[in-house]
Formats: sequence, C-alpha cells, structure tokens
Amino acid sequence: MKRQNIMIPKPRSAFLSVQCEKCGEKTVIFSHTTTNINCKSCGELLAERSGSLANIKGKTLGALDQ
Ligand SMILES: [Zn+2]
Repeated sequence: MKRQNIMIPKPRSAFLSVQCEKCGEKTVIFSHTTTNINCKSCGELLAERSGSLANIKGKTLGALDQ
C-alpha cells in the first residue's frame, strides 16, 4: 500500500475525508484530532493523534470546508 502525502493549503484545522485502505470505508476525520480514529467498519487505524496535525494513515480524499 502506498501512502499519500497530500499538502493541505490552509494551515488551519479542517475536516478530512479519509478512506480506509483495508476496506474502503470513508470516514470524516478532524485534522487535529486528539484521539486515535479507527475505521468504523473494520477497525483499521485511520488517524493517529499527535501534538498538532494528526498522522493520517488512510487515503486522504480531500478536505471539507466548514
Ligand atoms: Zn476499514
């Protein structure tokens, strides 16, 4: 599996649409989540919390403006 690094133009926090690489389920993740996010379908880790921007493990499909 290839991990994609997608540059997000805005430095501010955003909601990201992330697709699980294991089962394809799409989940909306807050870019600066303070908890680890797991796929609700298969349990695969999708986003790992860090000090600031979360470490996205799945495939980022895009950012949702709020
Ligand atoms: Zn999954």
